[in-house]
Amino acid sequence: MNESLLKELSEAAGIPSREEALRSIVRRELASVVDSMEVDDMGNLIAFKKGRGQKKLMIAAHMDEIGFIVKHIDARGFMSLQPLGGFDPRQLFAQRLHVHGYAGERLPGVMTYNTKPAHLLTPEEARQSPTIEKFFVDVGMSAEELGEKVRIGDMVTLDRNAERCGDNFIGKCLDNRVGVFVMIEAMKALGEHELDIYAVATTQEEIGLRGATTAAYAVNPDIGIALDTTLCCDYPGSADADAVTRLGDGVGIKIMDSSMVSHPKLVNLCRDLSERDDIPYQMEVLPRGGTDGGAIQRAREGNVSITLSVPTRYIHTVNEMISISDAEAAIQLLTTLLQESHSADFSLE
Ligand SMILES: [Zn+2]
Repeated sequence: MNESLLKELSEAAGIPSREEALRSIVRRELASVVDSMEVDDMGNLIAFKKGRGQKKLMIAAHMDEIGFIVKHIDARGFMSLQPLGGFDPRQLFAQRLHVHGYAGERLPGVMTYNTKPAHLLTPEEARQSPTIEKFFVDVGMSAEELGEKVRIGDMVTLDRNAERCGDNFIGKCLDNRVGVFVMIEAMKALGEHELDIYAVATTQEEIGLRGATTAAYAVNPDIGIALDTTLCCDYPGSADADAVTRLGDGVGIKIMDSSMVSHPKLVNLCRDLSERDDIPYQMEVLPRGGTDGGAIQRAREGNVSITLSVPTRYIHTVNEMISISDAEAAIQLLTTLLQESHSADFSLE
């Protein structure tokens, strides 16, 4: 597996609406394997690979990561943040981050919780859950110095390097850089195919499937496949029935999440192809959380859609963990679908 590409994708910065660094990686990787590429006004990168011109398949992999923008800079140079995407404030203690100044400078800083020292807290105060509003950012500069580098609305991302960890891989925002990775690698592995394929690196998924919504309208596919991460709560403290997926057990074939119920015949096709080719897979039922698959399914008059998932432990923290073999299984199943789903019958009686 091309771990250096996955590492590069994980370490790149791109909050919703600021996916430009990711777009340029995807563009570079797909340039030699597709027929054309365009960027729409939402920032979606739509790469097209021609087939026989009879049916269209759209892949959606979101590029954006949960992050922040600068909301306020106080007189002493401390900044407060507006989150873009679903952070759990309990996971944000003692983080390092980057403030991406408007002139392109990456300023390292720390994120700290604005509270009294522990020995001054009342028992009542000590019990309160943390809130995003009470975190502030310190990049070690005065307000005056900052004024030349940072403006309200500039991007802030958490800082963490990606690395191999046993048979697994850890890093920030593997949700959904591993999905982008799977899309790139499947497009590179693609052999003979009849479907016209639109590989779309989407934007703004983390704040409501926004890029995929407009891209699916534009592409108007016959088949939609979203690639994303899913919960993998197979660790201490989580009941067996609530694990959703297990790390290393294979690609997740999504039956449902809160944005969609996957097309039943496409679910069966994924299962049958996995069985036939010995691709490790697991069936996924996710009670909460949505994916771009939901946006594709409900575009225009509705589309045959599913999401393929890479199980991810510690999701929406800076230490998301995926299994290398699960990512490989996702690449294999997606490649097979691209090559073979043109002849499948998805009609419902
Ligand atoms: Zn995601």
